[in-house]
Amino acid sequence: MRHLQGRVEVIAGPMFSGKTEELIRRLRRAVIARQKVQVFKPALDNRYAETAVASHAGGAFEAVPLEGIGQIWEHLEDDTTVVGIDEAQFFGEAIAAIVQRLADRGVRVIIAGLDMDFRGEPFGPMPALLAQADQVDKLQAICVKCGFPASRSQRLINGRPARYDDPVVIVGAAEMYEARCRRHHEVPGRPEA
Ligand code: ADP
Repeated sequence: MRHLQGRVEVIAGPMFSGKTEELIRRLRRAVIARQKVQVFKPALDNRYAETAVASHAGGAFEAVPLEGIGQIWEHLEDDTTVVGIDEAQFFGEAIAAIVQRLADRGVRVIIAGLDMDFRGEPFGPMPALLAQADQVDKLQAICVKCGFPASRSQRLINGRPARYDDPVVIVGAAEMYEARCRRHHEVPGRPEA
């Protein structure tokens, strides 16, 4: 059954805030409502399974990995009424126009993505998606330092906070991320405002 109107929903927040969990919850409910659901994610995110979106808590939903968001047209089926997109921050700026086009055609588009990078700066196309959305939900994780709500993703390289200008990929380094609040988020070398 087609929706009377399309819409764009964005689920944003830092790592571990439950974005993927919430995306999966909405997709499962759409299936119960007998919607035709298709899910996409950037091919570079092979966090758990190549062909699924998977939450840190263990839930999963089948997904098609895309090299670029433009490839969505090769996979989109005519009778699809709900499109899920995970890790949207890794897609290029073209995603904003594509999502609008889908919604204008009557598709419900549910997008999950990091609103900020490890520096605490807006991440890729997320600002545009957040601005265009009909509904925005901003989730918080739990700060690993103090237990307060966390809105930032802390990048650690060999156990130390990553510097502002550290390269995106550091060969041979042990990297990890954790959720932190504003007070405990550390970015050495960040330019003063
Ligand atoms: P996201 O997609 O936002 O990275 P996920 O949906 O993959 O989040 O994972 C959320 C789950 O991660 C939580 O339900 C919880 O089980 C787990 N988790 C691990 N560390 C934290 C943390 N610091 N704060 C909140 N949840 C955490």
